[in-house]
Amino acid sequence: MSREPQTALLGLDLQELTALVEEAGEASYRARQLFDAVYGQRVLSTDQISTLPKSFRGSLQERGMTVGLPTVEKKFVSRDGTVRYLVGLGDGQSVETVWMPEGDGGEAGDGSEGGDDAVRTNSRWSRATICVSSQVGCAVDCQFCMTALLGIKRNLSGGEIVGQVCAVLNDQQVALPESRVNLVFMGMGEPFLNYDNFMKAVRLLVEGVGIPESHMTVSTAGIVPRIYDFGQEPVRSKLAISLNASNDELRTRLMPINKKWNLEKLMAAARAFPLRNRERLTFEYVLLAEVNDSIRNAREVVELVRGMRAKVNLIALNPGPGIDFRTPSEERVLAFQKVLVASGIPTFIRRPRGRDIYAACGQLKRTAELVPLS
Ligand code: SAH
Repeated sequence: MSREPQTALLGLDLQELTALVEEAGEASYRARQLFDAVYGQRVLSTDQISTLPKSFRGSLQERGMTVGLPTVEKKFVSRDGTVRYLVGLGDGQSVETVWMPEGDGGEAGDGSEGGDDAVRTNSRWSRATICVSSQVGCAVDCQFCMTALLGIKRNLSGGEIVGQVCAVLNDQQVALPESRVNLVFMGMGEPFLNYDNFMKAVRLLVEGVGIPESHMTVSTAGIVPRIYDFGQEPVRSKLAISLNASNDELRTRLMPINKKWNLEKLMAAARAFPLRNRERLTFEYVLLAEVNDSIRNAREVVELVRGMRAKVNLIALNPGPGIDFRTPSEERVLAFQKVLVASGIPTFIRRPRGRDIYAACGQLKRTAELVPLS
């Protein structure tokens, strides 16, 4: 948690805004106006909050209060339409946020594979998914992930998590709630190792920005105690668990976090997770050629997941410098999927998005210097 005085409005909830307004000697209903302007309208600066009297806007400025939106430092546009944003934070650090237009929402883990509820809001895209980061770097050290190579720099604040979404929505000129936007907390970092700030962001995104909980999915590498906590949250996104291996020996090798919380503990938490009506759990499985992609591995996954209200998303490895694994062939991916489907487990193959600009899963590494292939 940050100890410096908070000077950004972004990240404050209604209660905190109320305290701020009252401290300034203004009527408490001004807090709601600030909340609506910052999260609902996504204003860029306090001058744009036209519902407030000029005098109050002036006093906010005198106190050094700003909206505190992160800045878009760089944008890389893939030939598939994906945009990777390098988002600059107040202290000079940066994270990546990815915009994936059109039809990939289901595959990105929002649980709706069909495109039948798509709303066409303009000619460019009908629905989109934003992949959001939760930390600068990551401490989890999964052997196939480029973010791991950064190590952990710091947690993002709640405001910085919400701010990524606002910055991208503003850049793409998205109007809510008319447009269908899904969020996946699957960018840099482990959201459940930044649990309180992540949860605050979820609440602000639901209550302020106007994105329904059912359109959001958080992915965890398996921080077991937080899976239990998350199940008790009154406002929460859907849950995805990065399984990535079919037995403990393999999982410990690929994801050292498995030493702390092994498959037995992880699957117990998954089975105890209180699903809502029509909700399903997602398991993600990164396929690494000749490491975890055999038919035997697939059969072990079936045993793990059997009887659960869950689906499995298969992701063929997105390669990158410093990653010592290979991407399996299409045939092997299909053969793996076939075993799961034959056992009645809904299993989807996630199409990589923006691989050419290093925007795909596991490739986020703050590569400002990268020259996109075109
Ligand atoms: N820390 C969280 C969220 C970030 S990773 C988690 O582990 O779930 C988001 C997803 O990308 C995870 O399912 C992860 O297993 C997957 N992933 C990581 N590196 C990858 C790579 N090189 N190729 C494909 N998927 C990868």
